[in-house]
Amino acid sequence: PVAAVENQTIAVLGLGRSGRATAAALREGGATVIAWDDSADTRAAAQAEGWTLSDLTRDKAWETRIDALITSPGIPHLYPAPHPAIAQALARGVPVDNDIGLFFRSFAAEGFDAFDTPPRVICVTGSNGKSTTTALIHHILQSAGRPTQMGGNIGTGVLSLGPPADGEVVVLELSSYQTDLARALTPDVAVFTNLSPDHLDRHNGMGGYFAAKRRLFAEGGPDRCVIGVDEAEGRYLANQLGQGPQDDRVIRVSVDAKLDGFGWAVSAKKGFLSEWRKGRQVASIDLRGMTGLPGAHNHQNACAAYAACRAVGLAPREIEAAFHDFAGLPHRSQTVATIGGVRWVNDSKATNVDAAEKALLAFDNIRWIAGGLAKEGGIAALVPHLGRVAKAYLIGHSARDFALQLGGTPHEVVDRMETAVARAAAEARPGDTVLLAPACASFDQYPNFEKRGEHFTALVRAIEAAQG
Ligand code: ADP
Repeated sequence: PVAAVENQTIAVLGLGRSGRATAAALREGGATVIAWDDSADTRAAAQAEGWTLSDLTRDKAWETRIDALITSPGIPHLYPAPHPAIAQALARGVPVDNDIGLFFRSFAAEGFDAFDTPPRVICVTGSNGKSTTTALIHHILQSAGRPTQMGGNIGTGVLSLGPPADGEVVVLELSSYQTDLARALTPDVAVFTNLSPDHLDRHNGMGGYFAAKRRLFAEGGPDRCVIGVDEAEGRYLANQLGQGPQDDRVIRVSVDAKLDGFGWAVSAKKGFLSEWRKGRQVASIDLRGMTGLPGAHNHQNACAAYAACRAVGLAPREIEAAFHDFAGLPHRSQTVATIGGVRWVNDSKATNVDAAEKALLAFDNIRWIAGGLAKEGGIAALVPHLGRVAKAYLIGHSARDFALQLGGTPHEVVDRMETAVARAAAEARPGDTVLLAPACASFDQYPNFEKRGEHFTALVRAIEAAQG
């Protein structure tokens, strides 16, 4: 239940899975809930479940007292324009919050006085690698025998998590949409993986996007800040929070620079992760051959997860042991099969150019399945890496545009996934990697990137079965 909402009337905007979980947690906490969703179908479903509806976009709904408006992450808050229901709340001075804000408010209200070790919260944000880093931290904690739960933007919504146990570490993945709006945001450890120009539409450009992420690191914020410093924004943020060899609030993470000269840092170079304290190397882990963590981008995630786990008191050896049996997440550089010496990798989650670039850099002799609904700029940024690509198989809406951008790199417009997989299977040689890393959204051909990755995986499984 949400704490400190007894006898309040709370409006909930957006009645998807997380919206309904939020409404339920508010009601359990003693609030009266009124709810709205723009979709008539969703409203009908919510009404059938017994929720009271009121059109929050109209003045009439606001004639009764409303103490707060809680919105879902998909709903525009300020940019390009507030949703009409949010505009109503803002005009009336009613606080606008989300489930993350409610979670932290409730967590703070608990106090956990009876516990030997109060539970702690690790939050992970950034443009890419959030889910992988979050899942990896959770996996390491589990392997080390620490009580832990994971949720937020991955898996369970924050208000559907169970009550924390003594000594528990709650690991939350937070998107910029979630951090942008939460009125309370007080993790013990905050992780910023990296920054790339995705999702800019919702945040009024890079400045707004960066500001949304930075809210996790506000004044009086986390005890420890784990910050990827391979981009200018991360370096700026890290320097703002702490500098010099005495500082141990910031743990800098890099797969690029050496980072001696700082108080605390974790870096990975040539497949070796190193932990640095005041310029001295205090631990080292060989990441090569860890199948769940291929490529420099996953080494960045490994460094961030390592740092976060060190920040909550785990030993380097416990972390190393857990790295070995991390299976990776589906649709993220996931090896689904090796057939006749050809590795088949599902990176359907590479919906932007930056993620696709990381995937291309993680493998050699690539047969690249790409395309879908392209983002601005297409694949121009990937041209420097095309030497790694033996051939591209182009699917979806962007296929013909991408063909033009590929220039002299061998390629074929195949339109559909079935054809792409069949052509790649026919042409791949032992040692090749067939990589689905579309650099595009999936919505032209699939409901979401998961369905696209599942389709690819099913086609690969069929080849595997046919080969006995
Ligand atoms: P997020 O939750 O931030 O979207 P994921 O872990 O789901 O991150 O990975 C999203 C995509 O980005 C995948 O295609 C993955 O291969 C790629 N990726 C993962 N980690 C990183 C990283 N550190 N930097 C860049 N790309 C990454």
